[in-house]
Amino acid sequence: MKIKIIAAIAVLLLFVFSVLTVFFEDTVTPCFMYHSVSDEALFDKAYPELSIKPGEFEKQIKYIAENGYKTLFADEFERDENNIIITFDDGYEDNYYNVFPVLKKYNVKATIFMIAENIGNEGFLTAKQIKEMSESGLVSFGSHGYSHVDLTKIPDTQADAELFMPKKILKEITGKEVNAISYPYGFANEKIRKTASKYYDYQYTTASFKDNKKLSNIHRIGVYRSQSFSDFENLVSGRRVYMLKRYIKKILGKPIPWEEY
Ligand SMILES: [Zn+2]
Repeated sequence: MKIKIIAAIAVLLLFVFSVLTVFFEDTVTPCFMYHSVSDEALFDKAYPELSIKPGEFEKQIKYIAENGYKTLFADEFERDENNIIITFDDGYEDNYYNVFPVLKKYNVKATIFMIAENIGNEGFLTAKQIKEMSESGLVSFGSHGYSHVDLTKIPDTQADAELFMPKKILKEITGKEVNAISYPYGFANEKIRKTASKYYDYQYTTASFKDNKKLSNIHRIGVYRSQSFSDFENLVSGRRVYMLKRYIKKILGKPIPWEEY
């Protein structure tokens, strides 16, 4: 009888563990999504979470560098638990002042997905800064659409231009091919993905926590201002603990500020 109970418990535990393993599937190659790195929250009213404090950012990059992870550009994506992909959306000017020096200090690579129309506009990277960063060999540039519109809501010909233009404009500045895109707001449908495939082999969205097996739909994990450093460590080394914390918060009805975007 006792043995039967123990066996039953063992089977139950095994079942629970398998379900949890599937549910909390590890991210083989974590792809991180940042926006702005600045002391002042750049979008203080609407989206304070999108600005990481420079000190916190340096701590994160130092952690990646010192723990032997290999950083890849967005168009070098390869599934390996030792690989990490660091990306920035939009192309804010603070990426030049607060990100670029840190990447050089720790010899870490990152990709900036630039809103092509905003090059040289106030608060965004200039062509000169883009060129300098690209020539360092530590920063690559990808497309984030021409004007940051939701590509799923515009006519086909306009969507095609939105997808193609950044590739052309960025190549003119850096002299390098542009082979990766991150969709504005992470929005894409099958039609957009198909059109984008004409220009980009690597397509990134914002939705997180998937084991990325399809290059036409690579998921990224957002890094936000109110996340703790231990959350970040968990995201880097496998996401189970982080996911569990998030799940428990949800069950308890506690707010998860960075999930509200
Ligand atoms: Zn964006």
